[in-house]
Amino acid sequence: MAQLSDDCFAFGGPMMSVDEAVRLIAERVTPVLDVETVTLARADGRILAKEILAPLPLPPFTNSAVDGYAVSSRDLPQKQEQAFAVTGRVQAGSSAQPLRPGRAMRIFTGAPMPDGADTVFMQEDVRVEGDSVILPAGLKPGANVRPAGEDIPADFAALQAGQRLRPQDVALVAAFGLTQLDVVRRIRVAVFSTGNELASPGEVRAAAQLFDSNRFMLMAMLRRLGCEVSDLGILRDDRAALARALQEVAGTHDLILTTGGVSTGEEDHVKASVESVGRLVLWRMAIKPGRPVAMGIIGGTPFIGLPGNPVASFVTFVHVVRPTILALSGAQPEKLLPMPVRAAFSYKKKISRREYVRVTLRKAADGALEAVKFPREGAGLLSSLADTHGLVELDEDVTQVAPGQAVGFLSYASLIN
Ligand code: AMP
Ligand code: MG
Repeated sequence: MAQLSDDCFAFGGPMMSVDEAVRLIAERVTPVLDVETVTLARADGRILAKEILAPLPLPPFTNSAVDGYAVSSRDLPQKQEQAFAVTGRVQAGSSAQPLRPGRAMRIFTGAPMPDGADTVFMQEDVRVEGDSVILPAGLKPGANVRPAGEDIPADFAALQAGQRLRPQDVALVAAFGLTQLDVVRRIRVAVFSTGNELASPGEVRAAAQLFDSNRFMLMAMLRRLGCEVSDLGILRDDRAALARALQEVAGTHDLILTTGGVSTGEEDHVKASVESVGRLVLWRMAIKPGRPVAMGIIGGTPFIGLPGNPVASFVTFVHVVRPTILALSGAQPEKLLPMPVRAAFSYKKKISRREYVRVTLRKAADGALEAVKFPREGAGLLSSLADTHGLVELDEDVTQVAPGQAVGFLSYASLIN
């Protein structure tokens, strides 16, 4: 398990910016170093533990990019079309006889270039007359050929340690002929909800209770990040029970994640219970939505307590939990890159804090993408997350947004993967 020092989340300032939070996490969280071997079919989404050098060039041999006729560039018609006798035929997967000078050979996409040939005419550009083919003038030497190694040369560092494998990366590993690869083992996360007002879906809900939605949202987000999740259900607002439960999972998980109970109300027991079994600091983050986020260490295991309001929980997950999971898994830190879109709303905000506005995108009459703000702002509105496409990020120095202004958009697809 990851072992962190008790003071690793200590923070001097009164308010923490989102960027500072991300930087602190990247600096102070020690990565899990355990490696496991997975087959190609199981590699998607995993973090590569070691760089992969290309064991062979891609493509492995020089081949034709089209269906057509292979010739030597020495024979290319210069001023006017010219007839060539066609000798030989080579299709993908077979090998060719050498090409004789002054001749053309029938060739198909992916077939190896015959010795003596270095240029291919597309079949659409030629005329066939009996056993000959009429080739036009003006083709460049080397046209329509894919040289060995043009994609990736042999020994090239094609994939980096810490890279999160995407389907196209898995394709690359397969193209190298590898059958398995070393990845960081899955990060183990224990997830609890807290609150007497919560009932689990499937349980009887008392009149003053609501069904626990955060736990399922958080577990889904964790699984998208490749985590192994322990669902530990709902903890009641009871300090001793909370403390016991936290201590129990500390040794066997890489991260303990809770939602609810971290504000300063009398019934917010998470802070006190963490303090009784470990060390806790409150990160007052300059972010909206999102209230203080509790950061701590219990027996060397990092602890994160997210706010209970679903939207605050979602947004703080993205900016605190996601970077923590990436750091634990030794992944390269990912900088979120907001996409410029046009605001179709006006908005006022406080200076010095980062705000996230839930928006849907639409295409305006002039073709530009416009962000339309969800009409209500409450941090408890699940519909505001479910019925929108992503978040507009308003930086600390922004105080207002006017319709037509350019703003940065982060799609949910980019935030929860
Ligand atoms: P808390 O952070 O515990 O003060 O909770 C803030 C608000 O979020 C309250 O209205 C809670 O009922 C709600 N809430 C807390 N935990 C959850 C949860 N797991 N699922 C849905 N809503 C929650
Ligand atoms: Mg609560």
